[in-house]
Amino acid sequence: MAQFDHIVIGGGIIGASVAYHLAREKGGSIVLVERNALASAASSRAAGMVLQVSTNPTKTPLAKRTRETVDILAEELGEDVGFHDVGSLRLAATDARISELDGMAAEAACHDIPFAWMDPAAAGELVPWLDVSSVRKVGFLPTDGYVDPYLLSMAYARAAAALGVEIRERTAVTGVLTAGSRVIGVETAAGRIESGSLIDAAGAWASLLSAKVGYPLPMAPVRSHYWITKPDSANGGDHPAVTMPDAGAYARYDVGAVLLGIHERHSATFDARELPDDPAAFSPTVGEAHWDRLAEAAEAVGRFFPGIAEAQFANYIAGLSTYTPDGNIILGPVPGVSGFLAATGCCGSGVVLSAGIGSAIADLALDRVPRIDLAPFRPDRFGRVDPFGAAIRERCAAARANKSRPLPSDLLPG
Ligand SMILES: Cc1cc2nc3c(=O)[nH]c(=O)nc-3n(C[C@H](O)[C@H](O)[C@H](O)COP(=O)(O)OP(=O)(O)OC[C@H]3O[C@@H](n4cnc5c(N)ncnc54)[C@H](O)[C@@H]3O)c2cc1C
Repeated sequence: MAQFDHIVIGGGIIGASVAYHLAREKGGSIVLVERNALASAASSRAAGMVLQVSTNPTKTPLAKRTRETVDILAEELGEDVGFHDVGSLRLAATDARISELDGMAAEAACHDIPFAWMDPAAAGELVPWLDVSSVRKVGFLPTDGYVDPYLLSMAYARAAAALGVEIRERTAVTGVLTAGSRVIGVETAAGRIESGSLIDAAGAWASLLSAKVGYPLPMAPVRSHYWITKPDSANGGDHPAVTMPDAGAYARYDVGAVLLGIHERHSATFDARELPDDPAAFSPTVGEAHWDRLAEAAEAVGRFFPGIAEAQFANYIAGLSTYTPDGNIILGPVPGVSGFLAATGCCGSGVVLSAGIGSAIADLALDRVPRIDLAPFRPDRFGRVDPFGAAIRERCAAARANKSRPLPSDLLPG
């Protein structure tokens, strides 16, 4: 029977990053088990925004770590990992957004992340489609940017394999094996694999795995989506990524086109038990016209991107993110058994947090004291909840609607 020091379940960007960081930390023998192809679920659909500072300061060190790791991976592999070093602009048009931006400037300074104030007119010069007439303050983060999420996922996986990680695709984990209160391995479609250390990085399906040891994780699959216009030379060249929290929207350059993402007021959520095993067999936009969702946001977005009214949208991409009720990730021990760690609930930020999560999980799996405070991410912070029920799914949808803003206090854990 196969035996490893660690089994990482799920070959998306999080599982690949965990495997890479465990191997870098000389974690012994490691197998990464993926039931479909690597990066075939959420990780190939992301917009790839790499924004290191958000309104949630607990995540900043994780995101900073990812930005640093992008350069390390490019160096180690000697290849382009798909990062566009263009910086990001955060626009504020109202008092509430200005005070958030002030807080983010202070947060950036705390972590030595470059941040500069930019004259709105100068931002308008950089981004041809942008109307800055209502913008009162602009923060510029020159080391932010965006990345091709598939390329970055595969870079983690290739770097992990180069360090000795065994990667098994087309291998579904069907059971979690325990002895007393310890995990001792997994059952897969291709037989048992033994290990006293399991990492659940199964994305939208992660709570189904943890439920096998009696603790479904407090998160729900929530739809994320964006639209891409036809390429147009009037959009100029590659420019900074843009967040427009007053409109609940973000945008970036995409090979001559504008990629526009919206944090819709009410996102569709799903019962993880009803998802198919193959994400290619599923669309989270069922029975409704996604153009209606774009139309709902058009007025708010049009204040910054007036061209939205005439823009010809050529592509629509939708996928499942995993959200928690408080908009924070799930990272740490699954209660009730020892040797089982969860690395999921990324709340639409799994790409930008990937290296931070991988590195923190490697610390926990190797019984080292993590370099950052992981308390806000504990899987048991809400107590026991039913993640499949309507009530928690509503709270997860609300967390997505508020993604670019601080969560109202009534949505935070008590
Ligand atoms: C439209 C969209 C836009 C986004 N934009 C951004 C962005 O701009 N920036 C950002 O940081 N993030 C963004 N995200 C979020 C980001 O894509 C996710 O947070 C990230 O990809 C999560 O990675 P993951 O590895 O946890 O999940 P996934 O990529 O979904 O991988 C989970 C894997 O686990 C496998 N699996 C599940 N169950 C089993 C099992 N039993 N056995 C074996 N394998 C199993 C699945 O097959 C899957 O491959 C976006 C997401 C979407 C959908």
